Amino acid sequence: MGKIKYKFNPESLKYYRVEISVKQKALKGLAYLFAFLVNASIGYLIYSLAFDSPKERGLKRQISEMNLNIEIFNKQLDNIESVLGDMQQRDDNIYRTIFEAEPLNYSVREAGFGGSNRYKELEKLENSKMVINTARRLDVVTKKVVIQSKSYDDLVKMAVSKEKMLGSIPAIQPIANKDLKRTASGWGYRIHPIYKIKKFHYGIDFTAPTGTEIYCTGDGVVQKTESSQRGFGNSIVIDHGYGIRTLYAHMLAFKVKQGQKVKRGDVIGYVGNTGISTAPHLHYEVLRGGEKVNPINYFFNDLTAEEYDRMIDISMRPGQSFD
Ligand SMILES: [Zn+2]
Repeated sequence: MGKIKYKFNPESLKYYRVEISVKQKALKGLAYLFAFLVNASIGYLIYSLAFDSPKERGLKRQISEMNLNIEIFNKQLDNIESVLGDMQQRDDNIYRTIFEAEPLNYSVREAGFGGSNRYKELEKLENSKMVINTARRLDVVTKKVVIQSKSYDDLVKMAVSKEKMLGSIPAIQPIANKDLKRTASGWGYRIHPIYKIKKFHYGIDFTAPTGTEIYCTGDGVVQKTESSQRGFGNSIVIDHGYGIRTLYAHMLAFKVKQGQKVKRGDVIGYVGNTGISTAPHLHYEVLRGGEKVNPINYFFNDLTAEEYDRMIDISMRPGQSFD
């Protein structure tokens, strides 16, 4: 039921009834409808800008989960890269030094990937920059692992070919020396036990009861057994090859003969007090290229890092040698 409308006529000073045609009514209706539609559209637009649909919310959650995963991957890559870096450093600085091999060329390790764009497919993805970055890091790490593994293969080959050398180099203590209690006097200036003057002591003295077993410290051949009442007393020299020899002095008795092949750890004789010696002990020397060198550097099979430090401490103590 439409309202009845009146209009005031200023000339006749009368109100008169306004007649509205069907056409006008229809136009008015359309105008209302149009306004409603416009309002609704704007409302929906504002709503959808401010609030996501459930589907959008789901997708957004997936994206943020994926981003988190990629971040976790990158953190793991950080760890792997750091472990790998450590392996490379040990490889170059320790293993390759032992085997006298050149460090691996830096450009070999850091070599990139040539050729076409490997990540073209990934460029189409959402977050392509992040994904490509991660993929690239993964490629680099994979390649480094392969190179490192090849380098270790080389080292294994070198170790096998140098096995003889590693077996020959003196690498243990010449007597059982638990807790290093038998280490008495080391390399350096010491008071001579008989002459009572400062003399350079070219070896390490191990105090031990007469008859204690003496071990050969590396594979080799008995070059000389010498029986004497003076100087080194009863002594043995072993030739290890590679220009390295060891000397064992003041022995009670020998268990090997000149020319005999010996292995590291073989008993070659017994601790005594022969020659110029003030108490039963073993005087041990290492010679390289004819020069006497500090034996402390030739116990590496035998000692932990801590024991090694302690042995240096003990053998450095001033005082008297047993000669
Ligand atoms: Zn000595």
